[in-house]
Amino acid sequence: MRFRTRLFINLNHLSNNLDKIKKIAPNNEILFMVKADAYGHGMVSIVKYAHEELKMKCFGVATLGEAKKLREELPRSQFEIYVFSDTQLKNPMCKEIYLSERIIPVISNFSDLQFFLEDSDFQFFPLIMKFNTGMNRLGLKMGELEEIIKLLKKNGRRSIYHLLSHFSSAAFSVKDDEHSKNQYNNFLHLKKEFKSSGIDLERTSMANSGAIEQGFALNETHIRPGLMLYGPTGLNAPHRHLSSWDGLVLSRLETYIIDVFEVKAKETIGYGAKEIPYDGVLVIVALGYGDGISTSYEGTELEHKGHIGKIFGNVNMDMAQILFKPEAKADLKIREKFEIWNHSPKSILNFSDQTKRIPYEIFCQLTGRVPRVYGLE
Ligand SMILES: *Cc1c(COP(=O)(O)O)cnc(C)c1O
Repeated sequence: MRFRTRLFINLNHLSNNLDKIKKIAPNNEILFMVKADAYGHGMVSIVKYAHEELKMKCFGVATLGEAKKLREELPRSQFEIYVFSDTQLKNPMCKEIYLSERIIPVISNFSDLQFFLEDSDFQFFPLIMKFNTGMNRLGLKMGELEEIIKLLKKNGRRSIYHLLSHFSSAAFSVKDDEHSKNQYNNFLHLKKEFKSSGIDLERTSMANSGAIEQGFALNETHIRPGLMLYGPTGLNAPHRHLSSWDGLVLSRLETYIIDVFEVKAKETIGYGAKEIPYDGVLVIVALGYGDGISTSYEGTELEHKGHIGKIFGNVNMDMAQILFKPEAKADLKIREKFEIWNHSPKSILNFSDQTKRIPYEIFCQLTGRVPRVYGLE
């Protein structure tokens, strides 16, 4: 077999995307977000390359399990790991892992903060705090600021290692959006209050992809890009013109044609015996919902050698049908490679717009059955 189903990941594009990010934000260090298996790209391989070849020093994950896996798979590496949401700080087993593996929890509520500050094991551990400046999800509350400052002082903390907050609406226009401006003003207020209380801020960050692409909140020590590192813009379709981002997509999702045959209008195909609407050529590809190609992707148009086909009928567990017009026949060959998306941002964004799934979700849905294959092209 010459082709097989795989997610090919060109690590040269990662290097180029990072260079491009550094041009947009030349004065910021990067906290590289690799949660959810590096947005489906294979966390360990991405971190290994980013750390060893691209000199990235700081990575963000969502769960302690993800962080622990990084330490286990890349044992002698010196990079920092932040755990953002599923921290389980008070679980004694988890606490032990933070301490022994040098993994840093992001503290997002008052009770965890109290626990962290009052536990002598964490006395010399870096303190990272995330505030809710208007996202209203996780985060220390603006109204708790006075009490938090008191608590820090009472426990002899004179410095915060990293103060951060997260935008709720960076996928939209941020620069003239009152909500985003309010969030950033809240963040500036926090910084001012900590400093005037004699508490040092070693690092600060606010911007994720959408904000970085719009040049917003870059006046902090760090930025926290996720999606843009992997290629696509973080902005929603109606706002993409506001983005300066021109990165390339790291991955291309390749499968191959298992079978191809002519079909006539009114013939029925596959599960549910779906009726073919017009004479055409039907291609069977080796990708289904068992690989992360959702049944809801039915109807999505895909391009192959200049011809447009449509995902037709039910997507199966292991296969999907794609219906082309008769004139495509000569260009559709059994065992040939078939790409679902390629390295051009247009390709994944077009897929995303049609399937009504954000690129984040499309990437994360790819299952473990699809091999991630890395190369430099
Ligand atoms: C996921 C995440 C990011 C990265 O967001 P993108 O939109 O993918 O750039 C940044 N900060 C926090 C706290 C996150 O959870």
